[in-house]
Amino acid sequence: MEKYKNLQIGILALQGDYECHKKQLNLLGVKNSYVKLPEHLKKIDGLIIPGGESTAIIKLIDRFDLRDAIVKFSQTKPIWGTCAGMILLSKEIEDNQAEVQPLQLLDIDIARTAYGRQVFSFETQLILDLNGSQTECPATFIRAPRIKRVGEKVKILASYNDDAVLVEKDNIMASSFHTELENNTKLLEYFLDNFLVDKVNI
Ligand code: GLN
Repeated sequence: MEKYKNLQIGILALQGDYECHKKQLNLLGVKNSYVKLPEHLKKIDGLIIPGGESTAIIKLIDRFDLRDAIVKFSQTKPIWGTCAGMILLSKEIEDNQAEVQPLQLLDIDIARTAYGRQVFSFETQLILDLNGSQTECPATFIRAPRIKRVGEKVKILASYNDDAVLVEKDNIMASSFHTELENNTKLLEYFLDNFLVDKVNI
């Protein structure tokens, strides 16, 4: 799409479903690249942290010296974390037996895998509150994290059974569900339009 022509989006590609995000970006004709090392952050305008296994992803973030680099990146550029990506952006993880040290870039607390195990994965239609209009969007919950606390200044864009499942604050967006498994690019477009297009094209 013409409005995305100046964008270059990075996808953290250490573990998880990063290929699905690549497919969605390709559907919209958005240039994208995988981020595996700190220097890969230099050429991108925004970062997607995919779903997967947060314990594995955080270990690899630290092994490849990406922690400080991602925190620094977030000070000027947007990040969208989905599922495990949301866990990594959170402030605190409840009952954190695996001792995952999150990046603490978003003022929310999380309970991991709180919608049940893999066999209890489910698909649903969510109503997203995007730019003041209500938009229906298919969403898949796979061993999804539950948001247990939403910081005062964090905006809730969608809920499921009274729990926030899509939130944003400043240049950080996080969703507990997946939308990248389908061809519906609504949420990706929201991220690109609201967090990037205006800023990069100026
Ligand atoms: N439950 C997983 C974790 O804690 C996240 C699942 C997902 O990303 N689909 O890392």
